[in-house]
Amino acid sequence: MDVSEILSPLNDVQRNAVASENPSMLVLAGAGSGKTRVLVHRIAWLIRAKNISAHSILAVTFTNKAAREMRTRIEEMLQIPSHGMWVGTFHGLAHRLLKYHWREAGLVENFQILDSDDQLRLVKRVIRGLDLDESRWPPKQAQWFINSQKDEGLRAADVTAPLGDLYVKTMTKIYQEYEQVCSRGSLVDFAELLLAAYELFLNRPELLGHYQERFDQILVDEFQDTNTIQYLWLKILSGSNVPVIAVGDDDQSIYGWRGAKIQNIQSFSEEFPGTEVVRLEQNYRSTQTILRAANAVIDVNKGRLGKNLWTSGDEGQEITLFAGFNEQDEARYIVEQVQGWILEGQERSSIGILYRSNAQSRVLEDAFIGESIPYRIYGGQRFYERMEIRNALAYMRLVVNRADDAAFERIINTPARGIGNKTIEVLRDLARQYNTTLWEAITLASDHSALATRSLTAIAGFKNLIDEIDSEVSSLALEELADRTIKLSGLIAYHEKEAGEKGQARVENLEELVSAAREFSPEVGGISPLQQFVDAAALEAGDSQADDYEDSVQLMTLHSAKGLEFPLVILAGMEENLFPHRMSLDEPGRLEEERRLCYVGITRAMKNLIITYAETRRLHGSESFNTPSRFIREIPPELLCEVRVTKSGVKYNKFPQASIPDTNFDLGQRVYHQIFGEGVVLNFEGRGDNARVEVNFDIEGSKWLVLQYANLQIV
Ligand code: ATP
Ligand code: MG
Repeated sequence: MDVSEILSPLNDVQRNAVASENPSMLVLAGAGSGKTRVLVHRIAWLIRAKNISAHSILAVTFTNKAAREMRTRIEEMLQIPSHGMWVGTFHGLAHRLLKYHWREAGLVENFQILDSDDQLRLVKRVIRGLDLDESRWPPKQAQWFINSQKDEGLRAADVTAPLGDLYVKTMTKIYQEYEQVCSRGSLVDFAELLLAAYELFLNRPELLGHYQERFDQILVDEFQDTNTIQYLWLKILSGSNVPVIAVGDDDQSIYGWRGAKIQNIQSFSEEFPGTEVVRLEQNYRSTQTILRAANAVIDVNKGRLGKNLWTSGDEGQEITLFAGFNEQDEARYIVEQVQGWILEGQERSSIGILYRSNAQSRVLEDAFIGESIPYRIYGGQRFYERMEIRNALAYMRLVVNRADDAAFERIINTPARGIGNKTIEVLRDLARQYNTTLWEAITLASDHSALATRSLTAIAGFKNLIDEIDSEVSSLALEELADRTIKLSGLIAYHEKEAGEKGQARVENLEELVSAAREFSPEVGGISPLQQFVDAAALEAGDSQADDYEDSVQLMTLHSAKGLEFPLVILAGMEENLFPHRMSLDEPGRLEEERRLCYVGITRAMKNLIITYAETRRLHGSESFNTPSRFIREIPPELLCEVRVTKSGVKYNKFPQASIPDTNFDLGQRVYHQIFGEGVVLNFEGRGDNARVEVNFDIEGSKWLVLQYANLQIV
């Protein structure tokens, strides 16, 4: 391949960046401006024009999917295999290093990686071993603490507790003990991968020297979301001679809650001498309309580095805004849009459906399953396969069928109720010996006094719990039963104690199960509704995810959508409290991060963008009336075209800014009412003095008012 083919599909600024001779470069640019493209072409350029070996290139991406895409692009361009290249996530690359140098890192050859669940179990054991009270020192919080310290590059010995701070002191003690258990067993958690890889370079100058010799170029994508330890690792590896190209966008920094440091962008130019700062301003991804909407939203944030993003592309269609009566209506509309798009001959994979929290996928999944549209949940699990949902369902399964040994094993000690492995082993033995179920083995164990009193009491407690839920089966509706189950089982309380978003998400998912139970319509007669519900859930979970090769609609959270693009994007659930998430409303910093997330969402769209919200929503088991997200209001109204469903089920389009005849009012206009506050004019009937208008108030929701009495003021 001719090198000009590497440079010709680039604009001038991109081309200069790709062929730059500068030691270090920081490409700071908005969404869709070709940052990732610059990295890919830079790699190709180095290999073809500079004759640099593929082995001398190290590229860091944010997700494994992004790493795969980067490899494929390079292979396509250069027609060479990319396996010699170090392309991966920070975690993936750190793992690779530790695999090669386990000895130097003080590990055994087959060191074991702890995933987050494994880690939690271990932390729990440590806490118990230290004789600490789990309710006072929740394992989840300790896990969060340990990982945050590691992300900051701190070992237990490096953590200094402020005088008299019992919390930090105790957490540090747990961290210390955990460290020892891990190092004895050669166990490596995710945060440890990064820290250990950093220390490997720190403590082994000869190794560091070897890699500094080896690599001729380091490239980092999504640099705005690197955390402290990742940045330290980059700095030590690059040393004074390996050039680094980092690309990023301060407006797309969305992992602050997980320790990412946007300040790394600011310090980069200072710490990597001779850094050339490159700005790309032309967006190649989206239509003008989409880009203008994105720019308007992000412009509300303060303290941005600021940039000017433009496109020479088509104006494109208006952004569709759909208001559903409720979440079912919203899901139905989304399915229709998807079907219409596919009928036009587009691929399913050209559609990205993005939402703020995992639990929101459930209603959409049900709608897609109902219409047999293949879909794929990307970067997350399908609702019925999530751990907490499977746990809750296992309780229900055991209630309907005591012989369900798999459900029994799953939950006998989840959440922890002091029933250890030894006890369960005894039950298994008894069940084998007497050829009974594990459930019956409980009775056998007490008849034969096969266990210590404490264990007997614990398993009797579990038995009573299941019987208690069962006793309510005949009297309660399915949804109440689901609600009782998640509470009585202790699952809700257990996940509420978890720190961070993960615990919050699990609680939300459990509550969502109650909604699912409410919507479930069992057949009359025969099998009990609970049994039917449990069976239906099992079938859905067993329905294997559309595989990688099947063309399928892509569902994912906004966080997982980073770096991706789709011809059609549907942003679902755009309501206050959902997005921006209610947890972020009190903190200005968090709210700005939510807005960046919205910017990320809008800028995933290439041709069409549909925004949907529901006027009432059942989520997490309860009904809420949320106003449309403030982010919708931040989009200039002339870019939006609102579609609504009337009560009779007819859809009609309303064109914002159409004026109401013989009045001073326009549709889409913001107005103020003395009692209801501010809102947007959505609809009208009649004209002049007799006109009635529908106003969607920010707080009170939508109302019909007679214009001549309403005394509305234009805001
Ligand atoms: P994000 O911030 O979302 O990660 P990005 O800055 O990394 O975006 P890319 O994904 O590299 O942007 O590019 C966005 C789209 O624009 C891609 O489809 C890419 O192929 C296309 N593109 C980039 N530069 C050019 C160009 N010079 N000519 C034509 N298309 C381009
Ligand atoms: Mg990118």
